Amino acid sequence: MAGTKNNTLKLKFDTARDYAPAPESKSAATIQPRYDLFINGKFEKPLSKKYFATINPATEEKLSEVADANAADVDRAVVAARQAYNKTWKNMPAKERGKYIFRIARIMQERARELAVIETLDGGKPIRESRDFDIPTAANHFFYYAGWADKLEYAFPNRQTNPLGVAGQIIPWNFPLLMAAWKIAPALATGNTVVLKPAETTPLTALTLAEIIREADLPPGVVNIITGAGETGSALVNHKDIDKVAFTGSTEVGKIIQRAIAGTNKKATLELGGKAANIIFDDAPLDQAVEGVINGIFFNQGHVCCAGSRLYVQESVYKQVLRKLKDRLETLIVGDPMDKNTDIGAINSKQQLANIHKYLKIGQQEGAEMYQPSGVLPKKGFFCAPTIFTNVAQSSRISQEEIFGPVLTIQTFRTDDEVIEKANNSPYGLSAGVWTDKGSKIFNLTTKLRAGVVWANTYNQFDPTSPFGGYKESGYGREGGLHGLTPYVNLI
Ligand code: NAP
Ligand code: MG
Repeated sequence: MAGTKNNTLKLKFDTARDYAPAPESKSAATIQPRYDLFINGKFEKPLSKKYFATINPATEEKLSEVADANAADVDRAVVAARQAYNKTWKNMPAKERGKYIFRIARIMQERARELAVIETLDGGKPIRESRDFDIPTAANHFFYYAGWADKLEYAFPNRQTNPLGVAGQIIPWNFPLLMAAWKIAPALATGNTVVLKPAETTPLTALTLAEIIREADLPPGVVNIITGAGETGSALVNHKDIDKVAFTGSTEVGKIIQRAIAGTNKKATLELGGKAANIIFDDAPLDQAVEGVINGIFFNQGHVCCAGSRLYVQESVYKQVLRKLKDRLETLIVGDPMDKNTDIGAINSKQQLANIHKYLKIGQQEGAEMYQPSGVLPKKGFFCAPTIFTNVAQSSRISQEEIFGPVLTIQTFRTDDEVIEKANNSPYGLSAGVWTDKGSKIFNLTTKLRAGVVWANTYNQFDPTSPFGGYKESGYGREGGLHGLTPYVNLI
């Protein structure tokens, strides 16, 4: 039986899954002891003279320290981006721009293993996910937008497209490299230059991307990457010489940003929180649906804005689905993210773990029934057992508020209308899932669910060609696909 010795959850019923540890080697990654700010094509010491540590959330060990950019550092980066915009980037033939973006994608592919290891060490997600999802999808975004660079006349027929100028881009910690790709690739393809700020707890893949950008010989200043906390982000949003803010993060900070740019000419896209409904009808293939639900909420420790965190099951199959879910939970492996067998890695930070624990308490106080599989979590690092709540009231905080952890609430329903009403009864509207054998039911629900993305008989599928974004408090604007070009151009 796998024990805490190798930092893996011990499972009572798991003899069949008693895998020997299969750790990925750390040697694929070179992490510098210290990183400066990537400004104007060079790594520059911060004027603030300050650095902060980034840790591995699975071991609590320090990995490196990164510069803490202050307002003067932000200004240097914006000045570099403006100069690069005026002098080189906006005048460069679109075909040449496309070649640079393509080159970045190719080098990302070449360094994929290194990027995956760094992503997992810095953020806590299982290596299987960094390796098979985050890094290839990030590279694919660069490939996809490289293709658009010289074809904007086909994206916007009979219109002239002008870039906006300098984009200030701020991203969260749940998909660090992928979010950087979502932001940088369309901005460059449309002729904008960029200042990007990664999240405080996961700066290392963005800084490795800075090395890649240098290797690709991108003209200095076209992409600048500055690290820091919320204050750095705020200084970027409030800088007078940026033309656009692209933000992915919490609804709370999204609202602060919206207030900060009110009355300015700055354009914005805000990709915010979510509380997605995943709906199982009685005619669905139940084993497949249960697997999709597990993937929808426990994938990436539930650190997913579009996580299927509210499950609605048609009453006649409720008992069956609950049994299958509980059985499947027993087989999930929680532990060392570097182990290729691990399903659920580390929670990204101590603070986030405390936030999830707060909601586990709230759920029980609200009268819901909590279930976690048997097992022991690793002693070191930030880990949370996959959790389901039954007997949940629609108005309860655990079903209304975003928990951003491996926590699923389950409710039942009888009719289509009832579940549509329940699913839409949320301040958010980012995504949803429907499981049924009937195409007509899928069409009925996809038109009535107020969510930016609705998956049918699958969940958490992403592709650079599909747009992504929300309704209501999940923000506005779309990223990905043809739609993802629109927020970066002025159409004439
Ligand atoms: P967050 O606290 O809003 O942080 C996001 C980014 O904004 C970080 O880089 C953060 O810096 C920075 N920031 C914090 N305060 C700021 C301010 N006043 N002005 C400008 N920037 C500021 O969100 P998070 O907790 O890191 O991320 C989780 C949230 O992101 C969840 O709500 C999730 O749903 C959402 N999310 C949405 C999508 C989507 O596409 N809709 C995708 C992924 C995540 P620090 O790291 O230093 O705090
Ligand atoms: Mg970290």
